[in-house]
Amino acid sequence: MRPVLPRYQHIRPLAVVRCHTPHDVANALAHARETGVHITPRGGGHCFAGRSSTTGIVLDLSPVNDVSVHDGLATIGAGATLAEVYAGLDRHGLTLPAGCGPTVGIAGLTLGGGLGLLGRRYGLTSDRLRAAQVVLPDGRTIDCSDDQEPDLFWALRGAGGGQFGVVTKLTFEPVPAEPTTRFLLTWPRSRAAEILRKWQEIAPDAPDELSANLKISAREVTLFGAGTPGDFLDLAPATADIGTMPYVELKQSFDDLGDLAGEVTSRSHFFRRPIPAAALPDAPGQELNFTPMGGAYNRTPPAATAFVHRAERFLVEHAGTDADWVHRTWTDLHEHSSGRVYPNFPDPFLDDPLPAYHGENLQRLGEIKRHYHPAGLLRFPQSL
Ligand SMILES: Cc1cc2nc3c(=O)[nH]c(=O)nc-3n(C[C@H](O)[C@H](O)[C@H](O)COP(=O)(O)OP(=O)(O)OC[C@H]3O[C@@H](n4cnc5c(N)ncnc54)[C@H](O)[C@@H]3O)c2cc1C
Repeated sequence: MRPVLPRYQHIRPLAVVRCHTPHDVANALAHARETGVHITPRGGGHCFAGRSSTTGIVLDLSPVNDVSVHDGLATIGAGATLAEVYAGLDRHGLTLPAGCGPTVGIAGLTLGGGLGLLGRRYGLTSDRLRAAQVVLPDGRTIDCSDDQEPDLFWALRGAGGGQFGVVTKLTFEPVPAEPTTRFLLTWPRSRAAEILRKWQEIAPDAPDELSANLKISAREVTLFGAGTPGDFLDLAPATADIGTMPYVELKQSFDDLGDLAGEVTSRSHFFRRPIPAAALPDAPGQELNFTPMGGAYNRTPPAATAFVHRAERFLVEHAGTDADWVHRTWTDLHEHSSGRVYPNFPDPFLDDPLPAYHGENLQRLGEIKRHYHPAGLLRFPQSL
């Protein structure tokens, strides 16, 4: 399985080990320890920084993709994609608060947090994690939870993938998959500043049930998400598509929302204060994506799990095929941001990445890394 981002598809691994069991993972890690060959796990292959690509050994977890439900808990193989997770849970009338891309991997997403349409109501994907099975770099397979290896379990919830060991199984407390209102509203691009001003007032403080995501492209302004769009309808959208449907269908309906094709550069940051209208950049052929935070995301204290970003109002992603535009507009807006960056949107261009990803949790993460992974077998340019 190749990485999803075209920019990393030329990186040819020495070997791809298709892992079916923790034993397969441990054997490959032993080989890497003995030979010094670089090794990295791959789930869905969506890492923005190419961390699941290497000229060494790729541990392909995709064969481990079972989804089962017992006693209200969902056990999911670490190689499952979000489409497999949603379909497997929907058979039980359940779902998870998780992302939109159907081929995104559940492990990569969960280990870095996990933002999605149900997140303002139920929190991050990692906030629903109750246990994990991990193969440590020394080859031991261990289970962790709040009661077993609690420091490792704390660190797995939000520090980002590939840092402490190779996760082979994840156990979640899922949520009901209820019929949900889906909306997609559009306005002409000329109204972008006005819509953004209202969005910044409304979306981060909206009722938990409403997740309203804003996309500003060269063509138009799009507001899409789950819940009742209420106040946004007062802004006289040019088009409004609103309907209630099974949750799994709502997710599928947003599978192909991205307009950008080709080699896309993406950078992002979190915000706690509104962006002044005058600072809104033009987006010729590019995109600005605004994700609301607040709600349940921010009701978990920053030190309760490794995911430290619990006081943010929204996330802005600058994405485009024009890398100069992405760098320029990111730099222009950065002074208004909180300086924090979502670990699942890793950014190779950050000057001081670790405080941006981990804030005040950085010191504890370093101690846990030294305890579970002293040898530095799993490593990448911005790893702990
Ligand atoms: C098209 C697209 C849509 C996205 N949509 C969303 C979204 O809606 N919400 C959101 O929050 N994020 C989203 N993301 C970001 C996504 O959460 C991250 O890219 C995530 O890390 C992807 O996980 P993966 O398994 O697909 O990627 P991979 O590249 O396979 O892995 C990502 C990182 O995790 C490590 N890793 C993978 N598997 C394991 C494992 N089993 N054990 C230990 N480490 C592991 C890898 O080594 C790598 O460092 C999106 C990204 C893309 C490209």
